[in-house]
This record gives sequence, structure tokens and C-alpha cells, in this order.
Amino acid sequence: MTYDENICVRCLACVSESEFGGVTYQRGRIFFDETKPEDWENIISICPVGAIKKDAVASQTANKKEQ
Ligand code: SF4
Repeated sequence: MTYDENICVRCLACVSESEFGGVTYQRGRIFFDETKPEDWENIISICPVGAIKKDAVASQTANKKEQ
């Protein structure tokens, strides 16, 4: 998953949608913790400006291969 801070309008929809603390808002910034069991597909789809994208699923897989 990737997040583009420049596109994000801080609507906090993703934070509201987060059930397990996977998305948090701290000091004016949005933070993502992909280790949390969120419905990421849903969180990505709820963003009105497309600031969140899915690529990190692929990078997680890549990281696993390196271990
Ligand atoms: S839903 Fe999208 S625009 Fe809204 S706070 Fe989250 S990342 Fe930013």
C-alpha cells in the first residue's frame, strides 16, 4: 500500500473506517499500520481522492521473499 500525503485532503474517512488502529491521525498526518487486520480494500476504496493505493501488498510479498 502506498499513501500520497500531497493528494490527501485529511477528510479522515480512512481513519473512521479503520477498526483496529491500522489508520491513525496524529499531529496533522495520517499513519498506516499494515500489520493491523483492517479491511484494506475497503479503506482504499473509501478515499475520495485516491490518496491510498494498493501496491504495498506486492512489496510485502517481496519482503517475505527476502527473509
Ligand atoms: S480517506 Fe484519503 S483523503 Fe481522506 S484522510 Fe484518508 S487518505 Fe486522506
